[in-house]
Amino acid sequence: SITLKNISKQFGDDLVINDLNLHIKDGSFTVFVGPSGCGKSTTLRMIAGLEKQTKGEIWIDDKRVDQLPPGKRDIAMVFQNYALYPTMTVKGNIEFGLKNKKVPKAERERLIQEIAGIVGLTPYLSKKPQVLSGGQRQRVALARAMVKKPKVFVFDEPLSNLDAKLRGQMRTELIQLHKRLGTTFVYVTHDQTEAMSMGDEIVILNKGLIQQMDAPMNIYQQPANVFSAQFIGTPA
Ligand code: ATP
Ligand code: MG
Repeated sequence: SITLKNISKQFGDDLVINDLNLHIKDGSFTVFVGPSGCGKSTTLRMIAGLEKQTKGEIWIDDKRVDQLPPGKRDIAMVFQNYALYPTMTVKGNIEFGLKNKKVPKAERERLIQEIAGIVGLTPYLSKKPQVLSGGQRQRVALARAMVKKPKVFVFDEPLSNLDAKLRGQMRTELIQLHKRLGTTFVYVTHDQTEAMSMGDEIVILNKGLIQQMDAPMNIYQQPANVFSAQFIGTPA
């Protein structure tokens, strides 16, 4: 599980996250949703360790992690701009992090085959990223994160560069992947439909404050305030 305790973030005089407290259950698919600039990416980046909080604590299970560098938090990140290495094959891209971690060759091979199978990349392992479609590239980014078998995956608008049809397909694939792995997914989007269709727990953020955190159905049926109601599109 992930726990944020009294997390605040200031950029200069700008308080962009204001005393956030929340608990993300193990194995949940938690989606942060809210308008542009409300602090979604900043929150995710603090969880992953790419941004340091101004105040507060971050816990993963019973370990305080907010002073640890990103590589020591057992979290894998998938972003919208999934920079793949253009000169390496798909396999090389997936393998890179494993080589850095000095995983033995036989184990690397086994992991790559397993993960490529899960995300449907087996026929593409020897290809270079530039000949792949957007969805295939996104799968490479996903595979690269998956081979590390992290405790938590964080996603920041990973589908926003894809066309509508592919986006729909990838949503379904991510939901299935989440079921299959049973790992905690923390996902950021500004798209209400995406949030409500993918998450089992939704965190509605506005101006750095949590408006509501609940299962999608509960938010539909009982929006906590006018902002939640209007944002999700149900009558208050
Ligand atoms: P979007 O949906 O547009 O991606 P977001 O909810 O992810 O928005 P954040 O990127 O978290 O928003 O930004 C929250 C606020 O913090 C914004 O006002 C932004 O301008 C500010 N901000 C983010 N990063 C920095 C930074 N490195 N320096 C200064 N201000 C920043
Ligand atoms: Mg963002």
